[in-house]
Amino acid sequence: MAKKVLIVEDNELNLRLFRDLLEAHGAEVRTIRDARDALEAMRAFLPQLVIMDIQLPHISGVDLIKAMKADPALDSVPVMAVTAYAGKGDEGRVREAGADAYVSKPISVSRFVLAVEGLAGPLGDGFKRAG
Ligand code: MN
Repeated sequence: MAKKVLIVEDNELNLRLFRDLLEAHGAEVRTIRDARDALEAMRAFLPQLVIMDIQLPHISGVDLIKAMKADPALDSVPVMAVTAYAGKGDEGRVREAGADAYVSKPISVSRFVLAVEGLAGPLGDGFKRAG
């Protein structure tokens, strides 16, 4: 069974990179560009992993993670935070909110996939079905 992964990312290039990488490894991917739609999309899709950009317009990734952890339907979903700035204290702030892993941009492709599979397990069956 393909793992369900939801990506919250406002940067189109990063969004496509993450989606392509995850789909190439067999995941079923949903993408959210507007943070205001994220929680509703998570409740509908019930992902097995969330990739969360931290710098988002309207609602920060940290606040979204906190909201997930306060929601019984979402509090057990692992979260991998992705962020461009890695200032001192940022990783602590993100982990304190409840993120299970933290990767800084620009990402290393192999490290990204390792971190994802470390949280979610193998993403797919290892082969693509026709159709
Ligand atoms: Mn962003």
